[in-house]
Amino acid sequence: MLTDSATLFGDLQPPMAEESVASGPVAQVALEQGVDRTLDYIIPAKLSGRVQIGMRVRVPLGRGNRAVRAWVVALKSASDVPRLKNLLGIDDERVLISPPVMQLARWIGRYYSAPLGVVLESVIPAAVKKKIGIGYSNIVRLALEPEKIQEVLEKTKARKRRAVLSRLLQVEKEKGIELNRLAGEAGVKPPTVRKMAALGLVTIRSEIDLPKMTEKLARGLGEEPKMELNADQQKAFDELRSRVIGGGFSVNLLHGVTGSGKTEIYLQVIAETIARGKRALVLVPEIALTPQTVIRFKARFKRVAVLHSGLTATERHRFWQQISDGGADVAVGARSAVFAPMPGLGAIVVDEEHDSSYKQDQAPRYHARDVAIKRAQIENIPIILGSATPSLEMYRLCKEQPPPRYHYLTLPNRVRGLALAASELVDMHQERRLRRGVHLISQRLEHLLRTTIESGRQAILLLNRRGYSNFVFCSSCGEPIKCNYCDTTMTYHRSVETRAAGASSAAALHTGQMLCHYCLATSVLPEKCPICGKKLSLFGLGTQRVEEELGRKMPDLKFARVDSDSMRTFKDYESTLAKFARGELQVILGTQMIAKGLDFPNVTLVGVISGDTALALPDFRAAERTFQLITQVAGRAGRGDAAGRVVVQTFLPDDPTIRTALKQDYIGFAASELKGRREINLPPYSRMARFILRHQDQVELLKLGQELAEKTNAAIAETKSPVTMRGPMPCAIGRIAGFHRNQILLQSDRAEALQIVLQSVRAAGGFSKAEAVAVDVDPVAML
Ligand code: ADP
Ligand code: ZN
Repeated sequence: MLTDSATLFGDLQPPMAEESVASGPVAQVALEQGVDRTLDYIIPAKLSGRVQIGMRVRVPLGRGNRAVRAWVVALKSASDVPRLKNLLGIDDERVLISPPVMQLARWIGRYYSAPLGVVLESVIPAAVKKKIGIGYSNIVRLALEPEKIQEVLEKTKARKRRAVLSRLLQVEKEKGIELNRLAGEAGVKPPTVRKMAALGLVTIRSEIDLPKMTEKLARGLGEEPKMELNADQQKAFDELRSRVIGGGFSVNLLHGVTGSGKTEIYLQVIAETIARGKRALVLVPEIALTPQTVIRFKARFKRVAVLHSGLTATERHRFWQQISDGGADVAVGARSAVFAPMPGLGAIVVDEEHDSSYKQDQAPRYHARDVAIKRAQIENIPIILGSATPSLEMYRLCKEQPPPRYHYLTLPNRVRGLALAASELVDMHQERRLRRGVHLISQRLEHLLRTTIESGRQAILLLNRRGYSNFVFCSSCGEPIKCNYCDTTMTYHRSVETRAAGASSAAALHTGQMLCHYCLATSVLPEKCPICGKKLSLFGLGTQRVEEELGRKMPDLKFARVDSDSMRTFKDYESTLAKFARGELQVILGTQMIAKGLDFPNVTLVGVISGDTALALPDFRAAERTFQLITQVAGRAGRGDAAGRVVVQTFLPDDPTIRTALKQDYIGFAASELKGRREINLPPYSRMARFILRHQDQVELLKLGQELAEKTNAAIAETKSPVTMRGPMPCAIGRIAGFHRNQILLQSDRAEALQIVLQSVRAAGGFSKAEAVAVDVDPVAML
């Protein structure tokens, strides 16, 4: 990208220097792919002084010296490796990875057992790496000291050159001036300036034109005054304020019931941070990054950068650059925003810290909340974790660990004296006994829906399952239709249209197709059972089936289905929520997409179609997830002046999780769930790592598992670590997309012991087949 001009003194640097020997400045680089270690390269003379840590460069690899991209992770004066190759060139003149982010990436690489190059890959957005949408300008600078130029000016007769040099003497030397502008102002043509560059009088470099890129991005009004805090909020705020002022690392869990005014506290803490000349980073789950959330930040602050999946590559890149230049006081974004290149960080906020979307499900399998805590430690600043249903990990940590590091703050009441929604259970067994036919919406819920709509209020219905029916099975032989490639059953999708809300055009599924939610394979619903040839039945429930029933029961109802089938893009989702906000929709029915962060004051009824759907999953966090989901969605009701009501339909009316969720009794739930976890030594009372092995061939898979188990056992023995290993054993879903899946589980009371073993297995090459072995530290999903 750079057009380097020759210098006047070019002949002082013999071409020999480029093929120099094994000493001299050396760059240590991490490759973006393939190799789980760093490599050393000599920095050739032509690049000397320009290569910096955090830059993206090109290096030759292998016998054929194929040029590949790599990240500079260290600079040294010499290397132990003999006969080094030369670095080929600089891919991007910017230092893309700042020192604190580099330190963070190194930690991720160690903690999550991922190659540093792979980590750095996900630290920098693709749009930034590919330099999408950025403006370049040719910047001209003087190549000589002003005194030398004066000499040249006195000697030279060329009028045009004199004009260019005189003009250049007037601009700041470092800053330079854009080529065309310079030519215009000096009354010459650009080729004249280029010729002068060839003579070594000036330099011309193609550089990113930062002002051009970011000038339009400063967004937000920043005019909205702050709210008067209530007593609980004030108490929490005062505590947090003192930590922002004092600086230093601290972890602050802000546990506040839904609608208790957590966001207002974030806003005021951030205002305090900005007032001290610092900046703030805010993480929210992608799904909660609705216009509603964004508007609240933009209303309060002037320079807000928002990073979400609805951005174009150009926008993403520009926001990133704006953040990097210090042009944003607040950055709000989803998971990967934890790597935002923000200088002068003063505070980090992680909203809905319990949300499982913070965990990345491919390498590096990091948890953004935990990475954010590490970043706060590196930057030596406070971090605030907010939730109405804290993860048991953070709850235990912040309650049990002593200050000054960890703090537990609580907002036990809703703002403005609003009551939590009144809640009730509907026993679906009883419903079945009393009514003929299949009804997914109980009489009680239907009645409440009608009265809610009649009084001009709105409702939200939650069902944590997409599709029409989660089983397609034969009522004669009893066999369900399975995915051809996974050990799962196919889900039937009747249609992809969203009723009333207007369908999304990009939908890929067609009427009457079956979909596997794991490998996304589709097939047509057969008319007859492929095994016995008799008629097929549909069984179970999904959002499409509830949609159909609702349409039948209340034909005039204006409602929309919100799930990942009906909402193909961020824009679909945005516009549906906007319609709901304007009252053009009376009900939204959806999956967990609608459970988080929405604040619609006119919603007075929340119905949970099936409180049980997550409970049956073979995952030790099933109860915790169920509790979170019910509590969160219940929190959407009654946020305005009218009281809210929550109805939970269940086949398990006595289940303690459902009961405590209904009462929104987090403390009660946490106490009993923690007790249960402690008894069988599950997280947070132990730490876990999981190896997931996959292969198309079952025999190969077994071999792979045995080898890895042997290496792991050897590592445990050799390091004398208190780590227990289980497996290899089949995963709960034994096959996905044609790959058989086995797992090995490691557990220990101490995270460090796990780290030592993981490092040892890694050094022994245990993870070298990256396509077959996935390492998941602190796993969140156990399927
Ligand atoms: P949470 O994030 O805990 O769910 P929010 O911050 O969204 O709660 O607050 C819920 C609603 O209450 C919002 O509409 C917010 O503007 C309002 N609110 C917050 N703090 C106050 C306050 N001190 N007085 C009045 N209204 C408030
Ligand atoms: Zn499948």
